[in-house]
Amino acid sequence: MLTLTGQLLVPDSAESLRLTPGVIFVEGGRIARIQQGTIHPKPDFGGEDCIISPGFVDTHLHLPQFDSIGVDGLELLDWLNTAIFPAEMRWADTDYAAEMSRRVALELLSFGTTGIAAYATSHHAAAQAAINTCAELGLAGHIGQVLMDQHAPAGLLVPASAALGQASTLKPKGRIAPAVTPRFAVSCSETLLKGAGTLAARSGWLVQTHLSETRRECDLVQQLHPGIGSYTDIYDACGLLTPRTIFGHGIWLSDQERALLARKGGVIAHCPTANRFLDAGSMPRAKAVSAGVATCFGSDVGAGPDRSMVRVARAAIDAAKQVGAAVPNAAGLWWQITSGNARTIGLTNTGSLEQARDADLLVIRPTTRWQNSPDPLSTLLYSWDDRWLRATLACGVVAYTA
Ligand SMILES: [Zn+2]
Repeated sequence: MLTLTGQLLVPDSAESLRLTPGVIFVEGGRIARIQQGTIHPKPDFGGEDCIISPGFVDTHLHLPQFDSIGVDGLELLDWLNTAIFPAEMRWADTDYAAEMSRRVALELLSFGTTGIAAYATSHHAAAQAAINTCAELGLAGHIGQVLMDQHAPAGLLVPASAALGQASTLKPKGRIAPAVTPRFAVSCSETLLKGAGTLAARSGWLVQTHLSETRRECDLVQQLHPGIGSYTDIYDACGLLTPRTIFGHGIWLSDQERALLARKGGVIAHCPTANRFLDAGSMPRAKAVSAGVATCFGSDVGAGPDRSMVRVARAAIDAAKQVGAAVPNAAGLWWQITSGNARTIGLTNTGSLEQARDADLLVIRPTTRWQNSPDPLSTLLYSWDDRWLRATLACGVVAYTA
């Protein structure tokens, strides 16, 4: 039994968190009991000056891109060719992929991320190695073999039938499941997209892809897939627009596309730090939300330079201000990067300080006197410092300590 104590970041009203003093008892990897209203005098972790948060969940990131952060000044398609595809080619070496997955998983845990929806590369053995390694280090979530059969270097392309055959044999491990991961409609033929749709229906796995990130990408998609309709229509026509589909970005969508996403239940992973880095445009998240489209947040490393989901949440405020939308409130943003993101990627056993959930927990010791702020959760969000994170528990196991 482990005891953690401090100000607990617990569920408040719908889609919002609040702080309250309390104790969390962890046993068998789960939250065995929560006692609110008191601080434990001799805890294993925490104290009166600490905050206990659910682990953060990142719904869109690329494991092989962590060493490529910051290759600046390029439009998306040029950036992929110059910086990203060469980095992904290195995953042809499965040992290299396993070693990098290990480094990345440990880094994520050191930033407080315990849940992920992540892309590997088009190499089958590397994708399986990434699933195994991330699971062994305690992460929960989904990792996919990237499906791509056109418009990229030959070393990354796998013909549709071979790619689908390989991807369908991926095995889950621990708390990581495989995901159906067509990269985007630029690098996938219609045959591959349709096959991915069939695999998604058959396996029930999460689907992840990119949608409408830059104008140049949108134009190219129309050229490559003529006569089907909008960018979103293409995914829908191929069986890839489902309530279990996470679409990275969704910046340049029409009202009709947002209505279609809302009707079919597709989720947009808003990646504000990546959008700013690639100068892709300003994502009108409020428009998506008011159209009824579910949204979640992603770091999109390596386009996104920030590994921290707190920084991604703060960038979402900047993005909202940029498009003149209402400023999202901090209590809702803390909910989004924990419970909200967990729910959108189907991680129902984590993301919240509730009895019987997996003990994915963060021990945070802030150095600011946030207690006297009129809006403590906003003060914590804006003054966030990764050095505050003292420990990360993944499924009840200490996965990181400062
Ligand atoms: Zn991405």
